[in-house]
Amino acid sequence: MATVTHFFSHSTPIPVIGQGTWYMGENATRRRQEVNALQRGIDLGLTLIDTAEMYADGGAEEVVGEAIRGRRDEVYLVSKVYPWNAVGFRAHEACEASLKRLGTDYLDLYLLHWRATVPFEETIAAMESLIAQGKIGRWGVSNLDTEDMQSLWKLEGGKACATNQVLYHLGSRGIEYDLLPWCAQHDLPVMAYCPLAQAGRLREALLHHPVVKAIAQDKGISVAQVLLAWVIRNPGVLAIPKAATIAHVEENAAALEVRLTAQEMALLDEAFPPPHEKMPLDVV
Ligand code: NDP
Repeated sequence: MATVTHFFSHSTPIPVIGQGTWYMGENATRRRQEVNALQRGIDLGLTLIDTAEMYADGGAEEVVGEAIRGRRDEVYLVSKVYPWNAVGFRAHEACEASLKRLGTDYLDLYLLHWRATVPFEETIAAMESLIAQGKIGRWGVSNLDTEDMQSLWKLEGGKACATNQVLYHLGSRGIEYDLLPWCAQHDLPVMAYCPLAQAGRLREALLHHPVVKAIAQDKGISVAQVLLAWVIRNPGVLAIPKAATIAHVEENAAALEVRLTAQEMALLDEAFPPPHEKMPLDVV
């Protein structure tokens, strides 16, 4: 496992753990803390920041804008467009609005948030036009299962897609059956969202699972670090945990150095078996 990657053909290598921003920008009283957390993450090398026009209705992009002010060149900035905005003039308006909130004049990567009714051809055309205008460096997709990826690949310009951002964590391994192998075969990096299983029952089950806890204890690290090290064990996968607290950001950055042994991975496989058949793509 390498801690940095040359994904996206970016000029500088990108660490395989980045920073998510969902639920940031929703509450003014938490804003300073969120900005500080993101800045600490950049200081520690978590330079890929993932956001979306959807998060807090643009509020998360504003938090990111504040965090990267004066240091735009240090980050690899990713945002996402609503599917109904991923076409023609609407894509330009949506992108402009994101850029304004982010306080920058370009995104490194712009993702179709999920597939809806707009034909891929029209989204590809909109993305190509944004690239031609220098507003985005590359484009990618999110929440697409293998069949959708296959359709995209058949279209003119479809292979320019830089990534597929999908849900992936130890408790949700469905993509290992066919999507992850497909992406590997096509040299397409996968960005794993919800690598810590976000909130809810599943997260509690993972955080308190005796096998995960025992591995963390043995290595003198946190359970979250085990979960992140597990997600990035695969050379084609990058994780984007969201952390709004400095302590969490520091833990997540340190997870870049964690290596799970073959025996630890086997124990995790036993507790959370890989899929033996096709499963529908998990989404939030
Ligand atoms: P995560 O799995 O990243 O979990 C986030 C939660 O984990 C927060 O409550 C955070 O707490 C906590 N946390 C972070 N670090 C630690 C740590 N070291 N120890 C314990 N708890 C920790 O869930 P997300 O849903 O946020 O997913 C990550 C990112 O992926 C999103 O923020 C977003 O950018 C992207 N995403 C994309 C989607 C898509 O459709 N393309 C869908 C969902 C997410 P705290 O904030 O208090 O530090």
